[in-house]
Amino acid sequence: MMHYKREDLGFSFELPDGWKRDEHNLTLTFYGPNGGLGRTSELIQIGIGAILPQYFSPQSREKFLAEPGAEVLRSRVGDEDNAVLLKRARDSEISVVRDAVHYTISFAHDAVTKVAIECLKRTARFPSPQQAQSALRSASNPEHQAVARMLRGQSPVPAASTPARTGASKGFLGRSMGLFRGERVAQQCETCPKQMQVLEFSGKGRVSLSPRDLASGIGQAEQCWECARLYCAECYPSRPQNTCVCGRGRDSVRHVGTIVYRGSLRLVKVRYLT
Ligand SMILES: [Zn+2]
Ligand SMILES: [Zn+2]
Repeated sequence: MMHYKREDLGFSFELPDGWKRDEHNLTLTFYGPNGGLGRTSELIQIGIGAILPQYFSPQSREKFLAEPGAEVLRSRVGDEDNAVLLKRARDSEISVVRDAVHYTISFAHDAVTKVAIECLKRTARFPSPQQAQSALRSASNPEHQAVARMLRGQSPVPAASTPARTGASKGFLGRSMGLFRGERVAQQCETCPKQMQVLEFSGKGRVSLSPRDLASGIGQAEQCWECARLYCAECYPSRPQNTCVCGRGRDSVRHVGTIVYRGSLRLVKVRYLT
């Protein structure tokens, strides 16, 4: 048996031997012994999320899911019978609502997957109402989402209304003028289209970011000491360490207060505009 458990939620189930999780897929994906990337058999995908209250009842989802050529049936997963099965020609989907959390289980129609789905339905365990509540709260909390993005190495989502001066020059003069006059011009990441405004260089060797900062689109980036080019939080980890495309300052050592900076780049606090 293969046991799966989502630790933060407490949702778990088992699949027969030979099934494995695809760790590279953002969607919770499981392949059977002969399944794999790009294959449409021996495949189970699971989505977990929130759902609008008007779809809590199975009757409302039966109506919503109905589509031409598909059959809508009631089902049962674990000890939950708020489960609607949508049977299509090639694949099927079970929609389960439990304590306001929506689980969708999509699966192929081959014999191996059918056995696995029966196993999943038999062994599924749902979180307690308290666990479900706290998962829903944190999923809809913008600060929690922003911190989760940072932990995944993504840059913050720009705030909806950001005072930005667009059309700023990408040239060296435009960049440095903005910096040295303290004027916050939009500046593009050197290696992707992201636009940022430099807010602050702390001189403390690090950038302090509160969950509130992250939720309002403020994050960190690397900036070249020499040419002021910026590298966004998603681009700089994949670049050669502490070097800039301008090629200058690679071997430099700078002392700011008690902090020693080596190489071309320093961390700065930025506001993401795009
Ligand atoms: Zn970038
Ligand atoms: Zn540079």
